[in-house]
This record gives sequence, structure tokens and C-alpha cells, in this order.
Amino acid sequence: ALPICPAVTELLQQRDFADAVRYPDAGARRLRQAIAQRWNVDPAAITLGNGSHELLVLIAETFVAPGDEVVFPQHGFAVFKLAALGSGGLPVQVAPLPRSGDQPLGADPEAMAAVLGPRTKLVYLANPNNPTGTWWDRTTLARFLVRVPKHTIVVIDEAYREYVDESAVADALALVDLHPHVVVTRTFSKAHGLAALRIGYAISNPALASVLDHRLDHPRGGA
Ligand SMILES: *Cc1c(COP(=O)(O)O)cnc(C)c1O
Repeated sequence: ALPICPAVTELLQQRDFADAVRYPDAGARRLRQAIAQRWNVDPAAITLGNGSHELLVLIAETFVAPGDEVVFPQHGFAVFKLAALGSGGLPVQVAPLPRSGDQPLGADPEAMAAVLGPRTKLVYLANPNNPTGTWWDRTTLARFLVRVPKHTIVVIDEAYREYVDESAVADALALVDLHPHVVVTRTFSKAHGLAALRIGYAISNPALASVLDHRLDHPRGGA
């Protein structure tokens, strides 16, 4: 992660923590508004989490029933498998591209599309991925998404979005409007150096976001 930004350190030092005795605004309206403005999206499209980790798990808890398949690349981010298993899903780990390619151990779009079926409830892809540093460009992601069945949610984990060459790596936010089953997750942990503050967010179409928000408020109640 990058070091914390000095302006943020200064803000935290100036902060009067006397109001810490009160519960915060559960809707986190100011943060939601700021993120919405930054990325020019509807505030209702945003779901906030205690880090994007919580959201990755929440998405599985919301949509995956025991026996449903959860597809993700082998060497993908470690949380994907844990989230799938935690919801009773069947992890389907897809073998990577051949080592000889220019993205060694990267996710294989053709192989991933080939395993999607009637029982696939969720697909996870970190773009770029941790730990391989590999990524899909816009064309690869767009072509993959048109092959995803309508009953399948696709999570594009963009924890490292701020580090990439914007023209090279697909920006999944641009695809949320076109694909109502896409959820993009981002975080303040890496580029902003704020991992301890646990601030992550998901952006999806507002209908899907409201299902996730409801689940956050009713962890055991079902969606
Ligand atoms: C670090 C990381 C996350 C989780 O970060 P949070 O601190 O929970 O927001 C998610 N995905 C990837 C690929 C990561 O490397």
C-alpha cells in the first residue's frame, strides 16, 4: 500500500473525537455522497462496507445458496474462495492462462466463460488481481460479460484500480450501466493507505445495491 496522505493525517489529528460517544449516521450519507460525486454515479448505487472484504463476503451471503457454483480464477484473490465456502457454495476455480503468455498466471477469459452454467450464481474477478498483478483490458471484460447468464452476478474487485494505466485496464464502472448484474468493489485501503479505517464500497445498479444494503442491515433475515 502507499503511505497515508499527509492531508488525511492532518484531518485525523484535527478531529474532535468527543462525538465518538454517539452512533454514526448508519447511511453514511456524506461519504456516500462524496464517492458518488467522485465517480459520477447515483448515491443509491453505492453500498458501503467495513473494507471491501466485508462486501465480497456479503455478496456471497446475499446471493449464494448451498450448492450454487461460485466461479473465480485459480490464483485469484484469496477471499473469493473463503466467501464461496462460507455461504455453502461450490468453488469453481478456473485454471489460468498458459505461463507462456504476457500475463503469467492471469485469469483465462475463455476458460472462465466456458464453465458458466445454470448453477453459476456468482463470478469473482480481481482486476488487476492480487497476488498475480494480472488484468483484463476493456475488450476482454466486455466480451466476457456478454457471455454471462442473466442469473449470475459478476463481482469485479478493483482494489488496485488507482494504480493502473487507465487506458489499458478495463474500468468496470463504465460497464455497470450496461450490465445490471455487475458489482464493482473498491477500497480506501491500498491507494489511500487507510487499511485500518476499513472503508470499502461497492457500486452496482441501484436495485442490486438496495438488496445488498438490506442484507447489511438484516444479516440473518435474508435478502
Ligand atoms: C486488499 C484487497 C481487498 C480488500 O481490501 P479491504 O481492506 O477489505 O477493502 C480486496 N481485493 C483485493 C484484490 C485486495 O488486494
